[in-house]
Amino acid sequence: MTDVIKRDIFEYVEKETALNELEKIFGKANVSDKPHDLYPYSYDMTESPHHMPDMIVIPENVDQISRFVKYCDQYRIPIIPYVSGNNVGGLTIPEYGGIMCDMGKKMNKIIKINESLMYAILEPGVTFGQLDAYLKNHTNLKYGLAYAPPYASVVANSLLSGLTNLSCCYGGMSDWLNGLEAVIHTGEVVRTGSCFISKEYREDNWFVRYPIPDLIGLFMCWQGMTGIVTKAAVQLWPRKKYNTALVAIVYGSEACAELIREFGRTECCEDVSAVPPDVVKMTFGIEYPEKQPEEPDWAIIISMSGNSEELLRAKVNYVKKIFEEIKKKNNYRIFLSNFGPFVNVLGKEFAIYYDLPNIITPLYEWDGCTWIGSYANPDNLGPLMEKCYNLFKKYEIGPIIYMKSMKASHYAVFRPIVRYHKGREEEKVKELQHEFLEVMLEYQCVPYKTPRWITEIVRKRCDQTWIKLLENVKKMMDPNGIFNPGKWCL
Ligand SMILES: Cc1cc2nc3c(=O)[nH]c(=O)nc-3n(C[C@H](O)[C@H](O)[C@H](O)COP(=O)(O)OP(=O)(O)OC[C@H]3O[C@@H](n4cnc5c(N)ncnc54)[C@H](O)[C@@H]3O)c2cc1C
Repeated sequence: MTDVIKRDIFEYVEKETALNELEKIFGKANVSDKPHDLYPYSYDMTESPHHMPDMIVIPENVDQISRFVKYCDQYRIPIIPYVSGNNVGGLTIPEYGGIMCDMGKKMNKIIKINESLMYAILEPGVTFGQLDAYLKNHTNLKYGLAYAPPYASVVANSLLSGLTNLSCCYGGMSDWLNGLEAVIHTGEVVRTGSCFISKEYREDNWFVRYPIPDLIGLFMCWQGMTGIVTKAAVQLWPRKKYNTALVAIVYGSEACAELIREFGRTECCEDVSAVPPDVVKMTFGIEYPEKQPEEPDWAIIISMSGNSEELLRAKVNYVKKIFEEIKKKNNYRIFLSNFGPFVNVLGKEFAIYYDLPNIITPLYEWDGCTWIGSYANPDNLGPLMEKCYNLFKKYEIGPIIYMKSMKASHYAVFRPIVRYHKGREEEKVKELQHEFLEVMLEYQCVPYKTPRWITEIVRKRCDQTWIKLLENVKKMMDPNGIFNPGKWCL
């Protein structure tokens, strides 16, 4: 895996011939090999090495994708499934070149909303912003919102098991998939979930994922390495009438870890997320915040909702009761308040963090931004926070650490975020990232949306029978190595 194998993309067919064939499938206007069209696909905000693709195609429907995949499989041409390239892990950079299959431009229909059974059938190009606006205007349902930009793909993030502001209740986005449709290497179209029964019965019978063998797993967290997903049925949730938020101000990492875990376990919170207060200072333009004496270490934002005022009040009271018990038992220096007054003091700039979907401006201000996202063991959050915060200080980089309780604290998210100046700070950032990874692996974090350098390290340290199975499944799904090669497998 560590060796970069150079691939001759057009070993089995002339590039010109392939271009002509693709123009027949997609139409001339939807295929390009012009450098100015290809360049935007060659890099992302992270330290992942740049690489130009050879072509880009813009599909409009499943039939085109099916013919395209069949053709590429025949001539072993790599395909990189792409929607908006916002994965923050170099996952759509075409490591060996190949053809970008950009579904963000024309495959962006909300095909169906089933209000009664609370699911939506989406094409891969449907964005968080688009789905949120549609649901707000047409239904009493909602989907979760990430800190991801509004133009990022719901389906792509579901396939990567992303996290949202409902993840404390419902877990990662992969858990919310009822079923999907995918084009496999032969060009055939397969459906998983309850829609597998038969096209003759009902096309949209996508209300549940089980109890059949869970073939959705063949596409989930594979980073586009097993096929192209052309539709997905995602679960929606009732939009509650009453909403509120609290904020806990915390001194000490152990206290913060315990509060995140216990707030999650109350089962009263939609979201429990924590950051160091340095993030607020960065939002207001301080590049490298200095910690002041007596300044707290962490802030936890807890959001809650209910369909009646009484229900919401009961939830808030219960969370407050748990908070007081923890404070008393451990003598922690912690404070709990309504979020409203903070918002009033901090003003409009701060709204980006709670009025989602939104562009989190501090992450875009510089040309570089990278992180190691992970699912973490909630019992280890204390030392993780402490050690990673100190690493930020060692490297003189403004500390952004984002944490979240997931699924009532069955697990957590831990994510140290580094924004940097690409040209001049890349080497320093790579070193820091390696140090983060060591700490995170030591404390049992499981990295997600993994860039290649992380998969190389993880592959060496994990169960080798797991790797063997992974390689075998990849070989079965993609015998000619055409789907996003160079990520977990060559
Ligand atoms: C500032 C910022 C904040 C973020 N915050 C969050 C956050 O809070 N929570 C969170 O979960 N994420 C977050 N992200 C990550 C990111 O937004 C998601 O990973 C993203 O939504 C994925 O969608 P995309 O359109 O960018 O997919 P792309 O980057 O285009 O694709 C992602 C991966 O999926 C594969 N893929 C895409 N489409 C298909 C398909 N149809 N079939 C098969 N494979 C496919 C690609 O090959 C690639 O490997 C954040 C990103 C940024 C930049």
